[in-house]
Amino acid sequence: MLATLRSIAESVAQQSDLQSALNCFVTMVKDAMHTECCSVYFADYSQDNFILMATDGLNPEAIGKFRMGFTEGLVGLVAQREEPINVAHAQSHPRFKLSPEVNEEGYNAFLSVPVVHQRKVLGVIVVQQKVARVFSHDEESFLITLSAQLASQLANTEIQTLLQQDASSHRTSVLKGVSSAPGIALGDGYVVLPHIDFTSIEPQHSDNIQQQIQLFHQAVAATRQEFHILAKTLSDDIPKEAVAVFEVYQQLLDAKSLGKQVESEIQQGWNAKTALKLVIEKLVAQFDMMSDPYIKERAIDVNDIGLRVLQHLVSTEQAVKHYPDNTILIAHTLTPTMLAQVPKEKLKGVVSVHGSANSHASILTRAMGVPAIWGIEDIPLLQFDGKSMIMDAYSGRLYISPSQMLVNEYVEIKRKDNILHDKFEAEHDLPPITLDGERINLLLNAGLDLSTETLSASYCDGVGLYRTESWFMQKGQFPTQSEQEVWYREVLSRYHPEPVVMRTLDIGGDKILDYFDIKEENPFLGWRGIRVSLDHPELFLDQIKAMIKANAGLGNLQIMLPMVGHSEEIDEAMALIEQACFELQDEWADPFYTIDRPEIGVMLEVPSSVYLLPEWSKKIDFCSVGSNDLTQYLLAVDRTNAQVADLFDPYHPSVLRVLNQIAQQCELHELPFSLCGELGGEPEGAILLIAMGYRRLSMNISSLNKVKWVLRRLRVTNMEALLENCLAQPSSKQVRRIIKEFMIEHHFAELLYTSHQAKGAS
Ligand code: PEP
Ligand code: MG
Repeated sequence: MLATLRSIAESVAQQSDLQSALNCFVTMVKDAMHTECCSVYFADYSQDNFILMATDGLNPEAIGKFRMGFTEGLVGLVAQREEPINVAHAQSHPRFKLSPEVNEEGYNAFLSVPVVHQRKVLGVIVVQQKVARVFSHDEESFLITLSAQLASQLANTEIQTLLQQDASSHRTSVLKGVSSAPGIALGDGYVVLPHIDFTSIEPQHSDNIQQQIQLFHQAVAATRQEFHILAKTLSDDIPKEAVAVFEVYQQLLDAKSLGKQVESEIQQGWNAKTALKLVIEKLVAQFDMMSDPYIKERAIDVNDIGLRVLQHLVSTEQAVKHYPDNTILIAHTLTPTMLAQVPKEKLKGVVSVHGSANSHASILTRAMGVPAIWGIEDIPLLQFDGKSMIMDAYSGRLYISPSQMLVNEYVEIKRKDNILHDKFEAEHDLPPITLDGERINLLLNAGLDLSTETLSASYCDGVGLYRTESWFMQKGQFPTQSEQEVWYREVLSRYHPEPVVMRTLDIGGDKILDYFDIKEENPFLGWRGIRVSLDHPELFLDQIKAMIKANAGLGNLQIMLPMVGHSEEIDEAMALIEQACFELQDEWADPFYTIDRPEIGVMLEVPSSVYLLPEWSKKIDFCSVGSNDLTQYLLAVDRTNAQVADLFDPYHPSVLRVLNQIAQQCELHELPFSLCGELGGEPEGAILLIAMGYRRLSMNISSLNKVKWVLRRLRVTNMEALLENCLAQPSSKQVRRIIKEFMIEHHFAELLYTSHQAKGAS
């Protein structure tokens, strides 16, 4: 059963276009299930009906023509109920609708399952048979499994179909993701492909045969060179026989083997990447079919060689490509390096297929003020390259090939957006004081965007979170203590005399160092933050010493420990900090100089920390809530997983109640507290937090002026009334509705075109 499922999925994936894939699918399913008919219907949401896309058993003339309303017939019922229907006598079912144009009169047995992807019915698969019978449980589960397996392939093709329609009918298509940095961008798509593989290559033709052959030759030459270097580097460490594998690789790259076949595909009109894909996939399939395990293994080598050539092909192409003036950067998984490569004045927006609004790359786009949309899953990436598009990163919508009318509409929205931005900017040097005179400290989250952080301290009350790991991530190896010292000194001096809260290394989760391998099934629940530091005291001590040395004569350093969940972690970290101070004092040239131990605090981001505040308040000097992780752990939602992005909600009543409880506990135990998660940078979040008693909020630079502008127009008493109401609600939806009403009532309607609206507040 498993082998049949796999072989159907593989054969379908190897087809070069949608129609052949569906034809292949229906025939293979019909044969595998020993029935007489299999058909696939696609849902066409623009016309509210299903269209027969492929069939083996019904009238082939009806393919692409026969349509059935969403509420019609058994197919409509399967989609409505979103569950299988298995009947022996279809024609006697009350919902059966006879459609003479498809010639299904002769069939009795009917089994159908919906194809659902991310809660959306994409289509319906039907198998039919003349003999009246109920299909067995095994057959039913076989079809359900196939449908689930193929749902994402069909989701992909659904979008491809849309895009093909665009090209021919000039229609705008809309894709939906999650807003991760608000704003509007109009521009042209620019696709970056870092970890490329053959499945992401959409078959494309090219008229310029000579140019494509030349590109292929260049890529082969670069790959040869790469193998040459690899073999040379390894020859000192591994046996000669093992190095010989590179000679075999070189031979495979030879014009007579791989080269000849690829060139022949190019001659057929394919571009170099497609030609390579076709040849490699064919070779891999041939090797895979061999029974000799040794030869079978060669499929891996062939694939590896192919991928390396492909990588060079793509980079040669990208080297000659120029970023458009209005670049909308599109990547499978966006990384900070990709962002850094685009000239700042050209980067207008960012789309990442993978990841979600709470990943660190996403926080970086917010810090840079670049609109971003995350989690547009299952898109054929390359088809976006060069396409004109509009990003509405308030609602998370991406419009491809927009009509002139839509462009005009968005130009106007953007104009209003800029006016609003100017209003915030105009008050940048006014203090953050509410209408009833409450001074709120607004601090900066810094450290993510190392290239642009040149902001002067006059804008803010200091740095509430300095993420030191970003710098470690950009280096090729662990920085030395003295390198760190120079770096920290620079940061401390830049904001002096305002305080700078430096967080010790918080690696793990989605923050990986290339030179420090952490591979885990569940990285966010694994070796992260303080856990790594305590297991590597030498790294921790180095970092603490560098910070303390950098602070000499300045005195604005505070140290914060990430991911603390156990009291022992605080005790051990404190002991190491004491040790660092002691050793430094010993090393110091001047015996009369005494080292000031900086204030030490912890991040409250692991739920267990909330219940230990009475004890911890005696050990630490301050705490800061990491609402990103606290939300992730409290709601059990991976902050980087687009699939569950809608469930990651800091306005969830449980999160709000915990945040409120933290404020009460800290006040009771006289422990200074603040918040440095993304929530504090949203006006609505800041309002609720201030009402809870938070007087120090740390946020991205792009949020600071907006939050200040809002709180200068409100009274804390009004905020408190809102909070009381929100805390009594049972769901985030209700919380958001109440907040929206509050914002309108207090004349902030113009701010409401924001992400939380897109999340379904109505
Ligand atoms: C948080 O978790 O809220 C936080 C500020 O830390 P980070 O986003 O770096 O994990
Ligand atoms: Mg965190």
